Amino acid sequence: MSQPSPEVYERGKGMDAHNQVMREIRAKKDKQYDPHEPTRVWLDEDNTPDGVVQSLTIILNTGGCRWARAGGCTMCGYVAESVEGGSVTHDALMDQIDVCLEHEAENADEPADLIKIYTSGSFLDEREVGAKTRKAIAETFADRERIVVESLPDFVEREKIADFTDEEISTDVAIGLETATDRVRHDCVNKYFDFADFEAACAEARDADIEASGCDVGVKAYLLMKPPFLSESEAIDDMVSSVRRCAGVDGCHTVSMNPTNVQRYTMVDDLFFGGGYRPPWLWSVAAVLERTADIDAIIVSDPVGHGSDRGPHNCGECDDRVQKAIKDFDKRQDPSVFEQVSCECETTWEYVVEAETSYGMPLTR
Ligand code: SF4
Ligand SMILES: [Zn+2]
Repeated sequence: MSQPSPEVYERGKGMDAHNQVMREIRAKKDKQYDPHEPTRVWLDEDNTPDGVVQSLTIILNTGGCRWARAGGCTMCGYVAESVEGGSVTHDALMDQIDVCLEHEAENADEPADLIKIYTSGSFLDEREVGAKTRKAIAETFADRERIVVESLPDFVEREKIADFTDEEISTDVAIGLETATDRVRHDCVNKYFDFADFEAACAEARDADIEASGCDVGVKAYLLMKPPFLSESEAIDDMVSSVRRCAGVDGCHTVSMNPTNVQRYTMVDDLFFGGGYRPPWLWSVAAVLERTADIDAIIVSDPVGHGSDRGPHNCGECDDRVQKAIKDFDKRQDPSVFEQVSCECETTWEYVVEAETSYGMPLTR
């Protein structure tokens, strides 16, 4: 892959120290990727404003996130999945879409109602996906009900969303906000934008919704539970307040709260290796979902790598059961699913929540 380097766009965002470290870590990765193959594609079910539907999730290989090239977020290993040179042509991107459609035709009984496109960056950044490709993808999926496209807030504009709504596809913009707390987003995640930028993107989506006919437009906020440098209890509190603040923004109908997992070639990985990071407990995920169940928005969580040392985990005995309860909650939004799971390790978790503190230098010797 190309060497990550700071560009004009990324300069002056006040995060040069984090970026310097991240660039050094990322430079260790040298795997190559084929621009004609998507990074990943899979079939699943998802809870949407129209209910639970079949979904096709596509991770397009677009050359990667420009913020990641500057250094990027402390937990994000996505840039490691980017292609050489930093951009992918229209034809290659459409080849990737064809591979995904073939995968669906071979593995599903019928076309999925919901298409989700992630790019290891921003689908709405025209340096990753040009206007021509965006329109062609909208036409390809004109027969589907709903599409989710991922983007940083800077690139969310109603004209871009109109490519999809003109085809009468309901459109959700997935924004990796990570947390509603600016200080945690800047200092723990190393993500450069503010909550106010997220609110502005939601306002763009709302305007696009007003202009759309026969379909709707909304925002799905992605939150990150327990970035590095937070204790377990700080992470829980940060998520509870973030879920509430996101759900309170007009236009944001879904909050997806996802626990950090330890990806290779990241700062989190370095900290993990040195004994300075533990992914959150699944009990903590359940606690946040329980404490925010009264909110009038869809709140979901999809713990990746659950039960492993590098993923959110409990004691090893109960992880599958708690994960299943979380997935049940995603579909039914009923917090009583958590009353049906228990384990001895809850006592340990309670102690961790009470006693764990963030790293601090001693004040005296
Ligand atoms: S989390 Fe998103 S913004 Fe941050 S480096 Fe990864 S792809 Fe870029
Ligand atoms: Zn347990």
